[in-house]
Amino acid sequence: MSIIAPPEDMTAYREQLSELLEEQNAIILAHNYQPTWIKELADFTGDSLYLSQRARDTDATTIIFAGVRFMAETAKILSPDKGVFLPAEDAECSLADSITSAELIEWKRRYPGAIVVAYVNTSAAVKALADVCCTSANAVEIVGSIPPDREVLFLPDQFLGAYVQRVTGHPGMHIWMGECHVHADITPQHLADKMAQNPLATLMIHPECGCTTPALYQLADASGGPTSQRVRILSTNQMIEEAKRSTATHVLVATEIGIMSDLINANPAVRFEAVNPRARCPYMNRVTPERLVETLRDRIGEVHVDQEIAAQARLAVERMVDPGLRAWG
Ligand code: SF4
Repeated sequence: MSIIAPPEDMTAYREQLSELLEEQNAIILAHNYQPTWIKELADFTGDSLYLSQRARDTDATTIIFAGVRFMAETAKILSPDKGVFLPAEDAECSLADSITSAELIEWKRRYPGAIVVAYVNTSAAVKALADVCCTSANAVEIVGSIPPDREVLFLPDQFLGAYVQRVTGHPGMHIWMGECHVHADITPQHLADKMAQNPLATLMIHPECGCTTPALYQLADASGGPTSQRVRILSTNQMIEEAKRSTATHVLVATEIGIMSDLINANPAVRFEAVNPRARCPYMNRVTPERLVETLRDRIGEVHVDQEIAAQARLAVERMVDPGLRAWG
């Protein structure tokens, strides 16, 4: 999969987009993992749930989601009356693709009565089969709210699932063995090498990473727990918030490297260094300025979600943000 380089001159794209956005009452959303030159063209930048919520709350009637398919589907689920477009129709996600709705139906059949917790990095069809969604920021809270005598099917990320199981100690968790190939490729060896080279650096680690091993958690415990100053296990948005407050001089960052520009912008005084500088998502990098213009001009790449699936998926998302809607008390 090739990664596209930035155009030399962005001026023409900026001008065309500005006109088209106004004409069509549209906004551009860009996930933190998008290339810098795409984020600079966006109205909002952030993680997938934040962006979908912001888009829902604006008056814009057209949403261009510079991200991957499950993110655009989430925006459509929250804004069913708006037109949602994906500017790279081939922008899929290895994590979302690691479980299908048919596989989830079969998994549920083997554990009747289990509560299904689906990470937001899943298709609309999978969310529709879940009892509740979660993000990496609230997965511990969601699973922690489920009584210990209930079985839990947690999907699809095995590393996030292991982290949640470790923190909550929930005895009934079953974890789907899916992974994001980008985060899985940030390995214990990458982390060990960087830490050996930089013994005074602090660490920010996304719980989807392959380096989230028992040894890392021992280190986190020795440093005061997973939210200690030395080792912090954080979601995408939490990393940016942490960067703003950071008083560290050097921070090692284990996640997709598109976020590095947001971290540097958040706190230019800190030296942020990627644990694996090759951890770039090829799907995220399929959006180009040219594709943004074509999408708006020709209204191509519209994302459709079946109304019934969208309604069921929306309920799973609403249960995530509103504990009062969770049926397990
Ligand atoms: S970084 Fe991983 S989880 Fe995120 S979009 Fe890419 S493949 Fe999916």
